[in-house]
Amino acid sequence: MNDVIETAGMVLFAAPVGEYDKRLVLLTTGLGRVTVFANGARRQGNAWQAATQPFASGTFRLYPGRNAYTLRGAQIKEYFMPLRADLEAAAYASYFAELASYYTRENLEAKNVLNLLYLAVEALLRPEADKQTVRLLFELRMFAEAGEFPDVTACAVCGKELSGSAYFLGPGRGFACPDCGAAKDGGVLLDAAVMTVLRAAVTGKLSILFRLPVTEPVKDGLRTVARRMRRLLNEREFKSLPVLEALTDSP
Ligand SMILES: [Zn+2]
Repeated sequence: MNDVIETAGMVLFAAPVGEYDKRLVLLTTGLGRVTVFANGARRQGNAWQAATQPFASGTFRLYPGRNAYTLRGAQIKEYFMPLRADLEAAAYASYFAELASYYTRENLEAKNVLNLLYLAVEALLRPEADKQTVRLLFELRMFAEAGEFPDVTACAVCGKELSGSAYFLGPGRGFACPDCGAAKDGGVLLDAAVMTVLRAAVTGKLSILFRLPVTEPVKDGLRTVARRMRRLLNEREFKSLPVLEALTDSP
């Protein structure tokens, strides 16, 4: 007989199934990204109605089945309710959930991605938030957590430690020192301030990621890098992107 598993997690997506049930995609620390059926969650007055909304975060009790889990209990610590009233923040959050889903799998440890997503949604809802900057920081860190971000500490050509300005040569080619990089090979020169924030964003503590000081010129630099990194994605798979782009200027 299988045992109920208790794990921290967040609801990424929720869809109706049948008359009263919901199918959830849950990102968890222990099990990675899993499919969970919440039976009766759409019944009037069901205790799970709120716990099975997208972005509800907390501890979930799951019963393993052959292809999916069944929800047995949930203790929600954060519902992110203001997302229901903020269309723009909700559009960003949906894109973040899709990107997190894109890079996670069942049985693939997802503690950092879960933490990153939680902090990003929290950052979106701060009154002073620059949502475009939150998006750029989230994307850059997501690429790093997925192991797709190139080394930002050493020149990809001569191996010298990078300090000060550097050229970004693209996702596959990495960063080069000013002696090795050149604009004629498609490199983009990023100044020391951009490189400092970029290094902190991809290798620093997650807890301070969305508190990094991002000035307008630094934001421009991060945008340049993020745009090139996005070429790694199959953007057609992202249902949230057209919505996000209709509501905001693409950073
Ligand atoms: Zn070099």
